[in-house]
Amino acid sequence: MGKQKVTTTIVILGAGFGGLACANALRKGLSRDHRVIVIDRKKSFMMGLVNLWILTGSRKPDEPQAPLAGLNARGMEYLNDEAIRIDVSAKRVQAKEHGLIEYDYLVVALGSELVPEKIEGFVGRGYNLYDAEQVQPLREKLLALKQGRVAVSVMGMPYKCPPAPYEAAMIISDILEKNGTRKNVQVDMYVPAPIALPVVGPQVSKEVVDMMARYNIGFHPNCKPKVVRDDEIEFESGEKAAYDVLAGVPPHRSPEVVRISSLTTSSAAGEWVPVDRLSLRTGHPGVFAIGDVAEVKSGTVTVPKAGIFAEGQAKVVAQEIIDEINNNGAPASSAAYNGQGFCFMEVGNNMAGFVEADFYHEGGPAVRLEPPSAQNYEKKHDFERSRLKEWLL
Ligand SMILES: Cc1cc2nc3c(=O)[nH]c(=O)nc-3n(C[C@H](O)[C@H](O)[C@H](O)COP(=O)(O)OP(=O)(O)OC[C@H]3O[C@@H](n4cnc5c(N)ncnc54)[C@H](O)[C@@H]3O)c2cc1C
Repeated sequence: MGKQKVTTTIVILGAGFGGLACANALRKGLSRDHRVIVIDRKKSFMMGLVNLWILTGSRKPDEPQAPLAGLNARGMEYLNDEAIRIDVSAKRVQAKEHGLIEYDYLVVALGSELVPEKIEGFVGRGYNLYDAEQVQPLREKLLALKQGRVAVSVMGMPYKCPPAPYEAAMIISDILEKNGTRKNVQVDMYVPAPIALPVVGPQVSKEVVDMMARYNIGFHPNCKPKVVRDDEIEFESGEKAAYDVLAGVPPHRSPEVVRISSLTTSSAAGEWVPVDRLSLRTGHPGVFAIGDVAEVKSGTVTVPKAGIFAEGQAKVVAQEIIDEINNNGAPASSAAYNGQGFCFMEVGNNMAGFVEADFYHEGGPAVRLEPPSAQNYEKKHDFERSRLKEWLL
């Protein structure tokens, strides 16, 4: 009798930043005896940062995106389906069309869900900056605005890519400048926190607010919206702000399939999946969570929700699984997540700053902000190109 072939099935939920990075790393590191199944309800992938290029007008909303079917050609199995149940005790997930799928390893990379309806009056009055379909109409509205007030509002915490709303405010200022209307339009930024970017601390927050001031953008902390009316936002403090155009980042939560699973807890941040900060393990055998859906805590610091962190976590998880499989199931990996990442902070006019951060730095996050340059803007485009090439195209 020949030796029986051992097949491991790894199921990855979500083909976004984290899921794609993890699936590709697994495929490269494992023999084809082992299955890598990726489930996503979307048919294609687009980075969130493209929203900002739609806002600047440098990317058209209908430009083709990267098809997820590209995963099949690379030896992974992509299922275009919706995950509706995660059963960690039976080690299986249920997908709407494909039914029950058993796994040996599960990587939950389902990202976060936007909840604009949580802010009374916002839907239909404001533009959701994080919804690609609403960004082009926002751009058109800004181009048609001759005078008045633009409000950029962060409506809840935590939200993905903390610098993005600031980038949007500076891009909006640039659009108005180029349109010849900036002098007649006031641009203001309203955030619920007491400082701009609590996750990176007061020093970098001050640098960001100073940068905004150079673009003549007003900064208003402690402004969590309660109600949006036709021409004003009322904040929980009772203060009000008038607006003509409102661009908002709605509150986030984890996807429903995660909220109804036993992966989430009823703790304060309970909608997110708590994981070990080094291994990204959830505590359920063979189950990992990465990216926006995970709560990665190091002491009092929570790693922000951003693609670069999802990607870093994905690589660590892939290596742990590869090592474990190669070691016949015994945990054997020395791979550990390091809490480091970077991003390019766009300011309009084809310029971007650069932020580098180490969230596991002893004594608190170490963060560095580089001033805007045309070179960093180019690097941001390279960032997108290189990932699409590596993962899908
Ligand atoms: C305007 C903007 C700018 C940004 N800029 C940057 C940047 O410069 N740098 C950076 O690092 N990050 C940036 N981000 C953040 C980044 O996009 C996210 O943090 C990142 O996508 C998170 O990766 P993820 O894998 O956790 O989730 P996602 O990439 O969101 O992927 C989750 C996937 O799960 C799928 N899914 C969800 N529920 C189900 C279900 N039930 N069944 C099947 N599929 C499901 C979704 O369709 C999705 O494809 C930006 C975001 C925005 C909105």
